[in-house]
Amino acid sequence: MNGQAKAAPRAATGPRAAGVLRTGKLAPLNERLAKLGLVTDWDFILHLPLRYEDETRIDPIGMLTPNEPAQVQGEVLTCRMVETGRGQQLVAEIRDDTGVLALRFIHYYPGTQSNLKPGTVVRVFGEARPAWGGGLEMIHPKVRKPVASEETLPSALTPVYPLGENIQQNWLRKRIARALMDLQGMEDPIPKALTEPLGLPGLRASLEYLHSPPPDANAAALSERTDPHWQRLKFDELVAQQITLREMRTLAARDRAPELIEPAPGSPAELMPKFRAVLPFRLTGAQERVWGEIERDLAQSAPMHRLVQGDVGSGKTVVAAMAALRAIEAGFQAALMAPTEILAEQHFRRIVSWLEPLGIRTVWLTGRQKTAERREAIERIASGEAQLAVGTHALIQEGVAFANLGLAIVDEQHRFGVAQRLALSRAARPAGEADDAPARKPHLLMLSATPIPRTLAMSYLADIDVSVIDELPPGRSPIETKLVRLDRRDAVVGVVKSTCATCRQVYWVCPLIEESEALDLTPAVDCAADLAARLPDLKVGLLHGAMTSAEKESVMSAFTNGEINVLVSTTVIEVGVDVPNATLMVIEHAERFGLAQLHQLRGRVGRGAGRSACVLLYDERLSAVGRERLRIIRESTDGFEIARRDLELRGPGEFLGEAQSGMPMLRFANLETDGLLVEAARDAASRMLAECPDAALRLARRWFRARADLLTA
Ligand code: ADP
Ligand code: MG
Repeated sequence: MNGQAKAAPRAATGPRAAGVLRTGKLAPLNERLAKLGLVTDWDFILHLPLRYEDETRIDPIGMLTPNEPAQVQGEVLTCRMVETGRGQQLVAEIRDDTGVLALRFIHYYPGTQSNLKPGTVVRVFGEARPAWGGGLEMIHPKVRKPVASEETLPSALTPVYPLGENIQQNWLRKRIARALMDLQGMEDPIPKALTEPLGLPGLRASLEYLHSPPPDANAAALSERTDPHWQRLKFDELVAQQITLREMRTLAARDRAPELIEPAPGSPAELMPKFRAVLPFRLTGAQERVWGEIERDLAQSAPMHRLVQGDVGSGKTVVAAMAALRAIEAGFQAALMAPTEILAEQHFRRIVSWLEPLGIRTVWLTGRQKTAERREAIERIASGEAQLAVGTHALIQEGVAFANLGLAIVDEQHRFGVAQRLALSRAARPAGEADDAPARKPHLLMLSATPIPRTLAMSYLADIDVSVIDELPPGRSPIETKLVRLDRRDAVVGVVKSTCATCRQVYWVCPLIEESEALDLTPAVDCAADLAARLPDLKVGLLHGAMTSAEKESVMSAFTNGEINVLVSTTVIEVGVDVPNATLMVIEHAERFGLAQLHQLRGRVGRGAGRSACVLLYDERLSAVGRERLRIIRESTDGFEIARRDLELRGPGEFLGEAQSGMPMLRFANLETDGLLVEAARDAASRMLAECPDAALRLARRWFRARADLLTA
């Protein structure tokens, strides 16, 4: 939920802000509502209260308990401006038969005072607190227009909705109530036969209940969302999600991919045994198992959609290379797309060193190439002369068409959106073929070091199979992680020096370079200069996003060759870079990084036999969440565990962006805690698709509108 209900109008900060408020220029109302995701009636209906206020009864002033919300009614005795050290305040006093209560307004509108004319009867809602001079007072209570009698008390709890910029609670209540009125004639979207056995109430009744529950509603069940009416809403959301996923799968099942079958043993096309002979190591058991899963998929005519998850350094690249090799053996092309230039290039070098000895023709494609060079690469891809293309986003740009792409590999897939993944498989369409031709797709292999917890993967990536490389290659040493306060940076420079004295290398990561001034971060440039000055015997290199690719390339290769001892960089080295001789990673302002990022960065060391360490330099003024992140990263080196904690800290919406999963996030249901409901929803979705497919699709569309666009992508 974003935003918080505020009983009082907000003013600018600072003592002078006290007093009468004026409103400034505002964006149009519909724009402000759209910011909250409120466009259609259905959006308003699903805008559920943050909490409720009980205005169904009136408490006697004499019986008020400090710090508990209450509603009282009384006659205004006095109302006046009071000059205080912090500006003018408005103070009124009201009285009922049992006592007197003060009302204090530090900020107020001109209308506030006119509503509080002495002699009028008002109804106020708020929390009473002990006042300075004794007695009780309410600060910024909600004041109702003068009321005549008690008969007008509402019969339901009053909802308090999340608000946006200058959207009034009362206005929003009325708008939502109107949207709910329109539901009157609505038929329940899910047949009763599916909801009743689960003890779930009707949808309309549930929505009405959640917007205005009766006074005796179970407050805890409402706030914990375990109330049956909440369950019903979550159920609808989950059923809609399941239907959407089935639909995606049905569409995908119509696609055809080439069957990439192993050539007969001894045939001249056979390459795999030669490849294994060239490799400088043996595959781990986990790598073999995952390769087996991929191999089976590739032989099918249904396109593979497989995600290989493996912690940093688990050796995903070699498995990807084997898949590419299988496509090539079978007479097709393969493509590998990486999110950054550095990473793409590193893959290219490594894979070329494995595959070129086997006579495989490879091509390199990036946006920063010279035009002539790029044109040549594109031609070799289009003619089919190139068997393997490695590159960045350039691979999915306009004008790139493969002669016969059999396999598309996306490395660090979490860095790409669904749209980009889809674009790579679309590039498989031979040039000139219409967009709506029966879909011929390449097999798709995705690699990721950011593990998606199993429950999430099953739900959001239901159209994707997951393989896990859960074993690191032998000979790795554990990485020791240390948290060091930024003011002890000097001591860390000493550690850098002693590390390099043993011929090891060091990464020093600084956050962002462009925004550094504004964010008060140590700019990488200054940092590199500073380290160079303090470590005169060492060669300090600098790598940042604003450098040209040629510059980056030369710095990277100097570091790989050991000519540079300390590589200062921004997060450009985050993914995939592999220099086994680097054993120390220093991350400055570690509190500014996300958990996944820290884990990825740390994974750059501990790749060789040498003992490795990661020093997280942090600013003491970090937030509670920042502190928690650092604690998690120090305690665990297991990517899956870190991802699980990350999920807890952030919630699925942020963890797995909509752009990545292609699946709108669940708003109400929680896959971890609503497990039983998820199961039931799965069954209900099957039955609805079989028995009332039209209703099923209507339900899915209502909840997951946005998904429709991706389905046709
Ligand atoms: P990641 O899974 O993070 O992409 P890489 O594929 O870059 O990991 O592999 C990390 C390093 O481990 C590379 O230097 C790679 O050559 C090496 N490697 C991969 N598999 C093995 C193995 N079975 N035995 C030894 N080293 C391996
Ligand atoms: Mg990798």
